[in-house]
Amino acid sequence: MAELRAPVGTRDVLPPESGRWERLVGLFAGVVERAGYGLVLSPMFEDVAVFERVGEGTDVVRKEMYEFEDKGGRRIALRPEGTASVVRAYVQHRPTPPFKAWYAAPNFRYERPQAGRFRQHHQLGVEALGTDDADLDVEVVALAWSVCTAVGLSRVTLLLNSLGDDVCRPAYLDLLRAFLRGAVLCDEHAGSFEQNPLRVLDCKREACRSATADAPRLVDHLCEPCAGHFARVRAGLDGLGIGYRLEPRLVRGLDYYTRTTFELAAEALESAQNAVGGGGRYDKLAEALGGPPTPGIGFGLGIERLLLAADAEDVFPTPGPRIDVFVIDTTGGAEALALTHELRAAGVAADRSFDGRSMKSQFKSADRSGARLALVVGEQEAASGTVTLRDLRAGGQETVDRHDVVDHVRKALS
Ligand SMILES: [Zn+2]
Ligand SMILES: [Zn+2]
Repeated sequence: MAELRAPVGTRDVLPPESGRWERLVGLFAGVVERAGYGLVLSPMFEDVAVFERVGEGTDVVRKEMYEFEDKGGRRIALRPEGTASVVRAYVQHRPTPPFKAWYAAPNFRYERPQAGRFRQHHQLGVEALGTDDADLDVEVVALAWSVCTAVGLSRVTLLLNSLGDDVCRPAYLDLLRAFLRGAVLCDEHAGSFEQNPLRVLDCKREACRSATADAPRLVDHLCEPCAGHFARVRAGLDGLGIGYRLEPRLVRGLDYYTRTTFELAAEALESAQNAVGGGGRYDKLAEALGGPPTPGIGFGLGIERLLLAADAEDVFPTPGPRIDVFVIDTTGGAEALALTHELRAAGVAADRSFDGRSMKSQFKSADRSGARLALVVGEQEAASGTVTLRDLRAGGQETVDRHDVVDHVRKALS
């Protein structure tokens, strides 16, 4: 039989590496739950319209969406990003605002597989709906920042921009279009800039970069409410001591973003792929999904990117073994079964060998498990109703009464 493999563009994460993922999700949940955000579980796939309505004209929707027709003839897409699904859920259930949600979930895109790009990647994110108060923008940016700090990253730059709103952005886009008409752009954007001129600012190709060096900046053309909002966001970040760099080229790939937009760039990673995450305000999204006008803001952080950045800074190591006690039983295994069960029930992490292996082989497994203590049950112990408790690190051992094992283990571990 041919060996089956994971689908192209996906990967398995096994222990011990997965222990790092677990720790990261736990750390993230801790940070955002302390700020009142609750876990949202939404489907991994949606009616394709959920993403089409909000992302029309973006690459991820035009070219990269992982979509298919199901057996019922419905057009389905695997979620390409987290925000649209959470806002769709908000629109459907109308929880009392402010609605503050977090998620940890896979995202999908269907593209030619290449190094470092996966068809399934994983994101941690928050969404907060129901107010356009600039303090909420500061809270959300600060949370993303706090996650990076808690991971131990110290070389992260916060990039900040405002995308304006539907009052001031159209006039700015006209101004940008007029500017670009006289410019020499890359092949892709020479023919498409009229439709979405913001993408030219974001383009990494040399032609577009030099052509836009002196392009008008959106932050200089904000209407009064947008300018006031952005000033409050900046003052709030200043007040919290969170440094940032204004980045006029920072525009989002999805069209529903308004006003505050931000990105976290890991300086330790190669510049083309150094964004560990980003987010921003999307005050038009709930309406685009058929809901009442509801402002909102959120961010997403890529788990894979965060861990790459952590590797590059040599922080956030894979956690060590979590087994405290290894039970070695050479009398048939029944004692190992009973002892591990008792220890686990008492909150002690315990493991054992199977298949009636030799004492020597079981001690090897005990070493491999990383356990600090071994409990040994041989013929002698079984006959006398005792257990030998050995400290695998310090080396000493003592004989303890079988009935008091859990207490002795607790004492030895404390
Ligand atoms: Zn370009
Ligand atoms: Zn405006």
